[in-house]
Amino acid sequence: MSIARRKAQPVGKGFAPYRWAAAAAEVATRHGIPREAVLKFDQNTPPLPGVPQVPLAASMARLADYPDGSYRELREAAAAYTGLAPENVVVGAGADDLILLLAQTFLGPGGRAAVSEPTYALYRIATRLHGAAVVDVADEADLVWACNPNNPTGSWVEPEELVSLARERPDTILVVDEAYVEFGARSCAPWVDELENLVVVRTMSKAFGLASLRVGYALAHTETAAVLTERRAPAPISGPSAAIAAAALRQPRLGDVETTVAERERFRAALVAAGYDCPPTATNFLSVVTDEPLADRLEAQGIVVRAFPGAVRMTVRRPSENDVLLRALGAEPGPTPGREATVLRTTTETALRLTLSLDGTGRTRVETGIGFLDHLLTLFGFHAGFDLELLAAGDVDVDEHHTVEDVHAALGSAIAQSLGTREGVARYGSTVLPMDEARATAAVDLVRRPHAEVSLAFTGDRVGSLATSLLRHALERLAIEAGCTVHVEAAGADDHHVAEAAYKALGRSFRQAVAPGGAGIRSTKGAA
Ligand code: PMP
Repeated sequence: MSIARRKAQPVGKGFAPYRWAAAAAEVATRHGIPREAVLKFDQNTPPLPGVPQVPLAASMARLADYPDGSYRELREAAAAYTGLAPENVVVGAGADDLILLLAQTFLGPGGRAAVSEPTYALYRIATRLHGAAVVDVADEADLVWACNPNNPTGSWVEPEELVSLARERPDTILVVDEAYVEFGARSCAPWVDELENLVVVRTMSKAFGLASLRVGYALAHTETAAVLTERRAPAPISGPSAAIAAAALRQPRLGDVETTVAERERFRAALVAAGYDCPPTATNFLSVVTDEPLADRLEAQGIVVRAFPGAVRMTVRRPSENDVLLRALGAEPGPTPGREATVLRTTTETALRLTLSLDGTGRTRVETGIGFLDHLLTLFGFHAGFDLELLAAGDVDVDEHHTVEDVHAALGSAIAQSLGTREGVARYGSTVLPMDEARATAAVDLVRRPHAEVSLAFTGDRVGSLATSLLRHALERLAIEAGCTVHVEAAGADDHHVAEAAYKALGRSFRQAVAPGGAGIRSTKGAA
């Protein structure tokens, strides 16, 4: 036995470390499907990332210095967000870090922690790591782990129920993990000042869409918070993460939560209508009770869900992505509330996945492997006010031709699909857009008569790794696939500016044309 195995503190028989669901790349290899075609419904994170509300440059400015070890700014922001005082707040590198800190503080060899399964796996793991035993009766426990709403079932209880448990057992620490509380459950936070044995755990990973930052916080009575803070790492959260999280807590933009909750209900209704046992949840995921190997069946189609004994859990994503999952389960998707579409496209040259929402806020995530193309499409999405997620992998080692063309074709076809009948849209849009010395004009007509006139006056062959000659043809493909008329003209001394002005102008023109409130596609000659 290795020294590490011999000297490691005992964790008891059958200890199972934390396991993630399969990564997209792994699923792709296992089933011979392109990486971009894999859809992940396993992480319980929102489909679109949170957007930093402080300038990134500012949050990154002092990388040589340690963050403020008291995390005053973050604690003040969390306190204001939860209606408590900064002295009630303990920070950690994600809720996970706080769960481990709680186990380290309150559990040890001979200790007992109550867990009611099925629930979040880390409670059991953290308990065992500190030499304590897992029991299932609250009576005997030094600490009770309660997840509310619960992962993976999505079920929830009223806080009063947990508060009375804490009152009845003043000698037991009650940890209430509220990772998903923003999606519909009521919080225990208002009781922490009264109950020294109550600790509420929160995260920036779910409703705020900032999982990558690794920021969580615990709320507790000031005395309990002080004990936890004494025992935490000196600086568990990076400076940039703490600054971005504090800004998000000061001005929460939880608009996506409402959209997710509405979508969750549509998603669930479709599953229930198809005969699945899918109980109500107060989270951003659904759980289907089943003994069938649904997870394996879905994975073979590139759809990753989380499997539990007797159930599968799936994260609520964008409507058009959820429809892919619903169809794979033989369920009939109901009408989607927003105008959006997901396009999966796999050819021998490229594989891509594109999700577009016409009624977005200009948030984009574009990764095509061609930097300047990413830049142009990001500008297009931003100026169009679309939400756009695009992952593409093409044969850029040959050249960028196929990727550029397929990406534009997919974008065009997503525009066409998300426009649906095109009733009630403004129909026309046009923009003149200066960009320093360059100037672009664009005009769009959403009538179903595909036509493109594109004239981009470049002086050189390339911007970055992108051959400028490809853009004309690519924009023509976009127009044809979108089934509309597009005119774009741009000229200037700097090719970067010429292309940028053209994509911005086109984005702005689409924004006007797709705006609701118009008569739609009617022509003086009758229906077009
Ligand atoms: N608690 C629960 C119930 C969770 O589901 C998760 C995430 N899977 C966490 C905590 C961890 O959150 P964080 O990203 O803040 O570590």
